[in-house]
Formats: sequence, C-alpha cells, structure tokens
Amino acid sequence: MTGPSDPDPWQGSFATRTAGLSASEVRALFAVASRPEVVSLAGGMPFVSALPMDLLTGAIDRTMRERGAEALQYGSGQGTPDLRQRIVDVMALEGISSSADDIVVTTGSQHALELLAKLFLDPGDIVLAEGPTYVTALVVFRSYQAEVRHVAMDAHGLVPAELRGCLDSLAAAGRLPKLLYTVPTFNNPAGVTLAAERRREILAIAAEFGVLVVEDNPYGLLYFDAPPPNPLRSIDADGVVYLGTFSKTLAPGVRVGWALAPPSIRDKLILANEAAVLSPSSFTQIIVNEYLASADWKSQIATFRGVYRERRDALLAALQEHVPDLSWTVPDGGFYVWLTLPDGVDSKEMLPRAVRQLVAYTPGTAFFADGSGGRNIRLSFSYPTPEFIREGIRRLAVVIRSEQAQR
Ligand code: PMP
Repeated sequence: MTGPSDPDPWQGSFATRTAGLSASEVRALFAVASRPEVVSLAGGMPFVSALPMDLLTGAIDRTMRERGAEALQYGSGQGTPDLRQRIVDVMALEGISSSADDIVVTTGSQHALELLAKLFLDPGDIVLAEGPTYVTALVVFRSYQAEVRHVAMDAHGLVPAELRGCLDSLAAAGRLPKLLYTVPTFNNPAGVTLAAERRREILAIAAEFGVLVVEDNPYGLLYFDAPPPNPLRSIDADGVVYLGTFSKTLAPGVRVGWALAPPSIRDKLILANEAAVLSPSSFTQIIVNEYLASADWKSQIATFRGVYRERRDALLAALQEHVPDLSWTVPDGGFYVWLTLPDGVDSKEMLPRAVRQLVAYTPGTAFFADGSGGRNIRLSFSYPTPEFIREGIRRLAVVIRSEQAQR
C-alpha cells in the first residue's frame, strides 16, 4: 500500500515526453473560478444556455428513433459522410470551397491538433506560433517534445516581416520549422485578427520556406459587425490544414470538430484517428447532423453573435470606466480581450490576490512557451452576464490599483 505522501512509484516509468504534460494554468484555475461568488473572466466557455434546448432534444430523439442502430455502432474513421457534407456548407459560409472527401471528423478540433502533432513532430522539431498563442496547443506541442518559437503579432495579427525574419534565421541555422500554427481570426488569447492584405503574404512566406500552415479557426463565424477576412484555407488549399469545430457555434459537449487537409495528410489523419479512437462518436455526429438539418442554425449563430457582442461591449466599457490608463485589444469577434497591465505589475503574482477579491482571469504567461506575457492578462467575456462582467472589472481594477500602490 502506498500513502499520499509517498513518492510516486511510477515516476520513473513515465515516457520522457510526459514532462511537457503539466496542468495548464487555465485548467488549474477552473476549480477556483467555478465557485459561484467568483466572477470568472478566465475560461473561454461558450454560453450554451442560449441554445434552443427543445430543438436539440428533438434532434437527439430523432437520432435514436430513426438512426438508433447506426448511432450506437462504430462508424467510419473519417466521420459520417452526411455530416462531412454539411461541414462543407458550414465552411462555405466563410468562403472555403471544399469536398467532403477531404474532411476528417475529430473529437473536437483539439483532437485534430493532437493528431497533427503526432503526424508531423519529432522530438526537437520547431513549431512557429503567434506570441501569444492558444494555451492547449502549447501543451500538445510540448508533449511531442517540439520547440515552440513565437512570431510577434500587432493589432493586425501576425507580422509578415517578423515571420520572414524568424524563418531566415532558422534557415541559416539549418533548422526550418515543420509547422506554422496560427489562429488568424479573433485570436485566442489576443482577440486580434490577421488583416486581409497580410493573409496572402503570410501564405507566400510559408510556401517559400516549405512550412505547412495549420489554421485553427473556431471563432470565425462569431463576428460582431462585419464578417472577418476569409480564412487562409480559402486562398491556399495545398499549403494549409484547416481546423474547424462545432464547439463555439453549437456546443463543446458534443465534441465534434474536423480537419480539412490536402489528400496525403488527410489519409494519414484518418489512420491516426483510427489508431486513437477507432471512429469519432457516431452518436454525436448524427445528433449534430440532425440539428443542422432541422434547426435554423444560421440564426442561432446570429443569436450567439448578439450575446457575445453585448458582453464584449460591457467589458470594453467597464475597462474604459475603471482602468482608462491601461491598454487592451478590441476584438471584432470571438471571446477574448488581451489587457496590458501597468509597468511592474505581474499578472501571475497578482492572480491569488484577484481571486481573494472574487475575480479570476488567465495570466498572459500561460500563452507563451518562453515565459513572456507577465504584463498581460486574458479576459474572456463569453460566459458571464454583462452585469457580472462589469462587477468583475470593477473588482479587478481594485486589485490592479493596490498592486500599483505597493510597487
Ligand atoms: N483552438 C482554439 C484556438 C480554441 O480556442 C479551442 C477551444 N478553447 C480549441 C482549439 C479546441 O476546441 P474544441 O472544443 O473544438 O476541441
């Protein structure tokens, strides 16, 4: 029998690559932030209560009555053909023309990311990513022992000259990266969007150096005023693997996402998907398909846009009221605002004091592989009501002021 204070008897048995598998800062926060008295601006949870639950109940009911045996059976490692055909229509809304043959359904887009890392990354390989970048992508890359190099962004997204500079110096050292991982539209965590004129430039640079682009686009349809520029994949079908998901336009609990990939990568993705899960859930794929067939899903996305726009506006107004001297990004869609703290205030050190004031956020350091981000925090406005957001920012301002006073 081993007790809680004994050293872990399996420590020596773990594979070397698990060293990168530590609980992310976001994950560790979820437990604290989910207490009802805490205003959580930390996790990026979609506001699923805005969904038409009765329509979903109907979709689930029909799934069982009309396709029950299929829904409860193993399915194709590529995903069900009818859902893949509907995904073609979803992507067409953003200007992507594709074929159902080139889509692989995965258990959320997170799983597609994991499969891509498995297919492409050997230990020591380099991945380029925006600085800051999506925290759980960092966890995946680390778990395959890849090295992440960040490329700077500004208010218009990834800076092409920075990408070229980075690739030039890596090429000179004979260390070209395998992948450029990017969230170009309503970036998580920075909230910024890659400008239309930069999109071709970024793709041309990646093609020149032979680097595969992984475009992760969970938020593109959740714009507030005007649609964002079309995805990178709509410009380049050969050099981009595109990741999509129903997590933000429907619900993350269904765990249905997908990859759209050039044929040779698609074939390997199917094999890797089979190795990992045999087949993605037939049950939830059919439910999503039934929902898309029977509900006015485009209006539902419009409803979500309205909900998130109101929350973004509440957040920006509260920042303007309580911390007008600070700077922050203004997102045109998605879930996140990236705030820069006063000089000398450390986002990670401040967090326990913020939680004592009953407000939570994610420190900027979570989104960098190299320890940067100490002066930044990510504020997520997707889940709390506008009223809670305003109260959360009021509490956060008190904490920031007291940190400043102690400097
Ligand atoms: N990529 C990004 C940029 C995300 O923000 C998220 C969700 N937070 C994911 C991927 C994973 O989403 P899914 O639920 O589809 O696995």
